[in-house]
Amino acid sequence: MTLSRIFTDKVLSMQPYHVPSSAGMIKLDAMESPYPLPDEMRQALGKMLSMVNVNRYPTPRSVSLAAQIRDKFDLPKGCEVILGNGSDEIIQLILTATMRPDAAVLSPVPSFVMYKQMAEILGMRFVGVDLQADFSVNESDFLAAIEAHQPAVIFLAYPNNPTGGLLDKAFIQQVAAAAPGLVVLDEAYTAYAGSSCAELIADYDNVLLMRTFSKIGLAGIRLGYLAARAELIEQINKVRMPYNVNVLTQATARFMLEQMSFINANVAKIIQEKAELYDWLAAQDKVTVFTTQTNFLLLRVNDADSLFARLRDEYKILVKNLHGYHPVLDNVLRITIGRRKENEKLRQALTAILH
Ligand SMILES: *Cc1c(COP(=O)(O)O)cnc(C)c1O
Repeated sequence: MTLSRIFTDKVLSMQPYHVPSSAGMIKLDAMESPYPLPDEMRQALGKMLSMVNVNRYPTPRSVSLAAQIRDKFDLPKGCEVILGNGSDEIIQLILTATMRPDAAVLSPVPSFVMYKQMAEILGMRFVGVDLQADFSVNESDFLAAIEAHQPAVIFLAYPNNPTGGLLDKAFIQQVAAAAPGLVVLDEAYTAYAGSSCAELIADYDNVLLMRTFSKIGLAGIRLGYLAARAELIEQINKVRMPYNVNVLTQATARFMLEQMSFINANVAKIIQEKAELYDWLAAQDKVTVFTTQTNFLLLRVNDADSLFARLRDEYKILVKNLHGYHPVLDNVLRITIGRRKENEKLRQALTAILH
């Protein structure tokens, strides 16, 4: 058997998505919430999950969870919601529903890597518009790229990962008006941003809103959602596998949506921890820290590769080394906010390494 005759050139040239081992480490690399569920909540959840009929398939389109999501997250009236196995799957659904041999997918770069990854796996043409050195989008370049490439789909992360900033809303509106295809607003970090573009799905017939439970304490259950006008959701729903979100995930999400005060309190704690870490980092002379609207901070250092390796090897602290991803990320580390003790250990490690 000759692999190269069977698998596509794209697949043969790819590397698998690499997740570094984190056993025994302080994990500040993946934008997870650092807070596990308290014991009582675990027990109530366990009891509830024990009642779920795992012998049955999930209900079609997960209607009751979708309705609860519409309610709790204040989505515009009349929009429809579809669920995915993480927002990763939703990206795949949107692109599967729009792929044509020459269709382009446009987004600023650097941004969330799955936009490009999934577009290319599906044989679409990914076009990235480089961010400027201060991490802002060159708006006229971006609008020119829409004109030149007529993208089937544009992804705008609001706030952006990995740079952490928000686009100007007036610019997003310009993009929506100029786009010949879909505009997906990826609000993975909306809980931390205190700002949303949800209303744009009512104002524009080509805008979709994508969010995830991953950054608010539920990364393990793999649940994302897409909200948009019914006519858009109806088409995207056709390429969804019928039972894509399992019954345990749905039940856990329904349970946790009744615990919004717990979720919101954790978000508030993370924002507070971030402010304290930011102030501390801003007072250090050998690093530059950037403001973000997310649960992570970005740090520019003299030698990111070496600092990353020392944090990992000497202090068992895992952060994300963005050096080498894109020129604007030269010597940049991305640090997810952890628990108070973990952030304190990071400060101690940085103090020891930098002085
Ligand atoms: C984390 C992240 C996602 C993916 O979330 P999942 O729901 O865990 O698949 C999507 N977009 C952005 C910008 C992210 O940072």
